[in-house]
Amino acid sequence: MRIDLHTHSDRSDGTQSPAALVQAAREQGIDVIGVTDHDTTEGWDEAERAAGCHGVGLVRGIEVSCRFAGYGVHLLAYLPDPTYPPLAEELRRILDGRRARLPATLSRLRDLGIDIDVEDVRRVSGETAAMGRPHVADALASLGVVADRGEAFDVFLGPQGPAYVSRYAADLETMIDLVAGAGGVTVLAHPWASRHNHTALDEAGIARLARAGLAGVEVDHEDHSPADRAGLRAIALRLGLLVTGSSDHHGAGKSGHELGCNTTAPDQLDRLVAAAEKAAAAAGRPAPGLLRP
Ligand code: AMP
Ligand code: ZN
Ligand code: FE
Ligand code: FE
Repeated sequence: MRIDLHTHSDRSDGTQSPAALVQAAREQGIDVIGVTDHDTTEGWDEAERAAGCHGVGLVRGIEVSCRFAGYGVHLLAYLPDPTYPPLAEELRRILDGRRARLPATLSRLRDLGIDIDVEDVRRVSGETAAMGRPHVADALASLGVVADRGEAFDVFLGPQGPAYVSRYAADLETMIDLVAGAGGVTVLAHPWASRHNHTALDEAGIARLARAGLAGVEVDHEDHSPADRAGLRAIALRLGLLVTGSSDHHGAGKSGHELGCNTTAPDQLDRLVAAAEKAAAAAGRPAPGLLRP
C-alpha cells in the first residue's frame, strides 16, 4: 500500500491538471493520493472524477498558507468541509492576498530592468486559482530571463531576493481551529524545511499547536535531513501526533519531488481518517472522508 498525502496540481503551482496528477499517481503505483493545492479546493472535483476512473484512493486536502511567530508555515488541512463559511472566508482572504501581490512583484522586477507584465504571467499560469511566485518564475523562464523556477527563486523571488514581496497568511492556531470547525484534520507540512522554523517549531512550539488541535506532523519530506526526520518523529511520538510522509510533488515545477518519493504508513492514514470522522461529528459537518478506490 503506497500512500502519498501531499501533492499539487495546476489549480495552484503544480504543472499537471488534477486528472493528470491522479493518473500519474496510478502509473507510479500509488494507491492513495492526497491532493493538497495551496489555499484552494478548486482541484477537488476533477481529482475525484479521475480517482474514480483510475481506481486510486483520494484524500482531499488544502495546503494553507499560515503564519506562526512571525514566520511562514504551511498547514495541511485534510477532509474539511470547504463550505464552512469561516474557513471559506479565510481562504478567500489568502487568495486575495496572492492576487494583490502579483502587481507589486512585477513592479519590483521592472525596477530591476526586466520587461514583464501581468499578461506574461497569465499566459503561463493556466488554470491556477492560487497565483504565486512559481507562476512569475515560469513567466521569467518564458521570457528567457532565467532557465527555470529554481533559478528564478535563487536570483529574484526567494525571501532574500530583490523581487520578494510578502503577502497575507492566516494565523496558524486560528487556522487549526477553523479546520476543526469544518470537520477536518490538520498536519504540519514540512515543519523543518527552513532554518527559522526549526526554532519557532521546536518541541515546545509543536506542543502548543497540539494543544490547539493539531493532529499530525509531516516527517518524511525531501526537505528534511535524516536527522530532522529522526528528531521530528521522536517529538511526534512524545506528543501523540500522527506521522505522515509525502512527495510534495509539483509536476515538472520542482525537481526531486517525484510522486511516492516519501510515503505515509497505512496505520497513520487510518488514524487520520478516524480523526476526521470524529472532527466532523463534533463539528456537526458532513464528513467527506477518504474516497476509496
Ligand atoms: P508562494 O506560494 O507564491 O509564496 O510561492 C511559494 C511556492 O514556491 C512553494 O509552494 C514552493 O513549492 C515553490 N518554491 C519555492 N522555492 C522554489 C524553488 N527553488 N523551485 C521551485 N519552486 C519553489
Ligand atoms: Zn507549491
Ligand atoms: Fe509547502
Ligand atoms: Fe506543498
